[in-house]
Amino acid sequence: MAHGLTYGSVLSYWEHKILFPPDGVWILGAGITGLSTALGLKALKPELPVTVVDSGVAVGGATRRNAGFACIGSLSELLDDLQTASESEVFSLSAERFRGLQNLRHALGDAAIGYIPTGNYEIFFPEEKEVFEACKDRMDDINAAFKDLGLGDGAYCVAPAPPGLPSQAYYIFNHLEGVLDSAMLYQALLNLCHRENIRVWWGLDVEKYQEEEGAVRIWLHPRGEGKVRLLALCTNAFTQRLIPGLDVHPARGVVMVSQPLGKTENLSPAGFHHQGGYNYFRFVDGRFLIGGGRHLDLVRERTLSQELPEDICLYLTHLASRITGLQNLGFEFQWTGFMGKGRTKRPIVQALGARTFCAVRLGGMGVAIGYDTGCRLARLMAEAL
Ligand SMILES: Cc1cc2nc3c(=O)[nH]c(=O)nc-3n(C[C@H](O)[C@H](O)[C@H](O)COP(=O)(O)OP(=O)(O)OC[C@H]3O[C@@H](n4cnc5c(N)ncnc54)[C@H](O)[C@@H]3O)c2cc1C
Repeated sequence: MAHGLTYGSVLSYWEHKILFPPDGVWILGAGITGLSTALGLKALKPELPVTVVDSGVAVGGATRRNAGFACIGSLSELLDDLQTASESEVFSLSAERFRGLQNLRHALGDAAIGYIPTGNYEIFFPEEKEVFEACKDRMDDINAAFKDLGLGDGAYCVAPAPPGLPSQAYYIFNHLEGVLDSAMLYQALLNLCHRENIRVWWGLDVEKYQEEEGAVRIWLHPRGEGKVRLLALCTNAFTQRLIPGLDVHPARGVVMVSQPLGKTENLSPAGFHHQGGYNYFRFVDGRFLIGGGRHLDLVRERTLSQELPEDICLYLTHLASRITGLQNLGFEFQWTGFMGKGRTKRPIVQALGARTFCAVRLGGMGVAIGYDTGCRLARLMAEAL
């Protein structure tokens, strides 16, 4: 394949040569989906030059900005989902999340990703007793449905308050879930990519692309272009800019991590869900992590603005005090991240043309299904080679 035109490009001859090797495949987005796609392709076609390109440098996509919950859905989240989707759709997605986690853990190893099989809880405050009762009422049939899907017995059960958590609240425990360390997960993915000779490039912003005879031409911002054999978009929340018509929009999430609490005893290692999964919290490294609040203004939160929404930060701060009983909990880290959402909860994994593909719209489930989704896209791409 001839190299692309570089007149006026900011790329040096050498940079161009590294970035656009003959017959190279590009994956856009160095999150869990893009890196897993690259790994999946290398497993199928070891000789293929695979390059992952990402516009982020210090601040990346959701994979480096999430909360590290390895989860398949809290009961109130499933009940919410059942309002708009059938039982078979909702329950089979939970099963896919469970299997996705198993495959991720198998590929990277629990120690490498800091995975702890804690089981996670859903918390209901006294004023949320009605929702708790509704969840309890559906628990047996959902457990039975999960059993039929091969997830074993008694996925959900009512549980006493774990140590250090409000004793007047109600709790439902799910033993199939766990937590992990998102920094370790990311590093483990990168390590595996380096081992497989996958090139990962940062600070390269793809502005547009176009399929041509035998190749895909790519334009970088501000100036630079080249040709690749196949292109995959694993750009999740940022996809609209490149494919405006696709049903995926950004959903901003806020996460906050406290200063060290000065103690490690009595801190449950489990993750906690609240309010249909919109809120979540856990203790991590002797600190308190809390996130959520998007449901305060779902329409406004369809944004890619990195600004911290003040009302949501305040809401999470109050919630944190209520959970921990600490009135002056200081937050050392507060950040936003972007999920890709759409009309349904399933990711979009498809060919966009003869040489372009996408795996996007991972929602709040990317830890669980990102690896499998990438492997699925890799199989689709390998058929086009
Ligand atoms: C605050 C928050 C908390 C979350 N918590 C959890 C959780 O606890 N458990 C869970 O399972 N999931 C959670 N999620 C969701 C999960 O993090 C995502 O589903 C998953 O990380 C998506 O991975 P991805 O690789 O598809 O996308 P991303 O990780 O977002 O990667 C997409 C990448 O594409 C790059 N990109 C986009 N456009 C371009 C372009 N034009 N040129 C070059 N590069 C481009 C971006 O820079 C980005 O790095 C959370 C998400 C958020 C935002």
